[in-house]
Amino acid sequence: MRQIVKSSKLNDVCYDIRGPVLTEAKRLEDEGHRVLKLNIGNPAPFGFEAPDDILKDVIHNLPTAQGYGDAQGIYSARVAVMQYYQQQGISNIDIDDVYIGNGVSELIVMAMQALLDTGDEVLIPSPDYPLWTAAVSLSSGTPVHYQCDEAAGWFPDIDDIKARITSNTRAIVLINPNNPTGAVYSRELLLEVIELARKHNLVIFSDEIYDKILYDEARHQCIAALADDVFFVTLSGLSKNYRVAGFRVGWMLISGNKKLGRSYMQGLTLLSSMRMCANVPCQHALQTALGGYQSINDLVRADGRLRLQRDIAWRMLDQIPGISCVKPKGAMYCFARVDAKKFSIEDDELMILDLLRQEKVLLVHGSAFNLKQGCYFRLVFLPHTDQLQSALGKVERFFANYQQR
Ligand code: PLP
Repeated sequence: MRQIVKSSKLNDVCYDIRGPVLTEAKRLEDEGHRVLKLNIGNPAPFGFEAPDDILKDVIHNLPTAQGYGDAQGIYSARVAVMQYYQQQGISNIDIDDVYIGNGVSELIVMAMQALLDTGDEVLIPSPDYPLWTAAVSLSSGTPVHYQCDEAAGWFPDIDDIKARITSNTRAIVLINPNNPTGAVYSRELLLEVIELARKHNLVIFSDEIYDKILYDEARHQCIAALADDVFFVTLSGLSKNYRVAGFRVGWMLISGNKKLGRSYMQGLTLLSSMRMCANVPCQHALQTALGGYQSINDLVRADGRLRLQRDIAWRMLDQIPGISCVKPKGAMYCFARVDAKKFSIEDDELMILDLLRQEKVLLVHGSAFNLKQGCYFRLVFLPHTDQLQSALGKVERFFANYQQR
């Protein structure tokens, strides 16, 4: 009988955060080992409870949310998103500019599917959140990675971006605050990106899912509030700021020079309709979430749980001989550099597998984030401090003796 072979569309599509290393972690668990998974930014399993009001709202609306909703999202959710961005200074938007999705993930794929034809190029940061690269490839586009500069706090290298723009470049992606590096971009940097978009007619996709997870003096600037003559797509959701990743609620706002994107928006509306609608009960959480008191602030202030965990994770990592880490200003990850020479490392995925097998701690290798040079790993600092300290002790013990070759 003929083999059932996966589509060639998937040949260049990778998503290694949940790839072979996770398969090995599951195998170890099946053997009876307890593995500490610091590979995914999923707050709830680490005891980060969602705000009560959100849960109550979903429960309250459950009986009347049994049918399909509007393909772009229920009215109250779209109004809430529109008002949220109006408060951030984006003018000239209405509820038809808002698309609600089953998480930002679905919207990233939809946004690329609606835009790209074969040969179209999209500028994506390196390192990146790899779904962006995967979505571009899946949509028959070509991901072109621009460098973020570790020595400059992982800010995008504007000259590198400029050098990679061609007549086929359609869009640029920013992830701010950044996953995996934790960088939070300055207004000046964002204005430079806008200038490039203006000059080369690029769409700016800004993934701002961590926009409230900020440490120290970091302030988040929504790029779409800085200009009205460029076409912006801003994405965010409830998974991180409101700790309900399992609810699968995200949104996308079109703003700026919307006249340029009428056809594109028709495409987005078509794709939204084809999947009927996003999860209706959980869309009810959105208005409650975005309005009023923001409990995430308690977690990131000087004595907040996330902030303390960030401090411990960063300090302990940075002290390990052969490891260094730029202090994250936002999000929930430390992205650490490993001295590949010192540990004779040629394969960063093998390094993560060796750590997993020896210490039963699961991290993600830097190349999974489309970073081609250097040796890095990403660690999620969501566990409570005692668990985090124990995990970092294991990472230290592993590197104390590690030689890959
Ligand atoms: N964008 C970034 C930068 C992320 O880190 C994540 C999840 O980790 C997502 C999007 C996807 O989030 P969602 O749960 O809304 O699909």
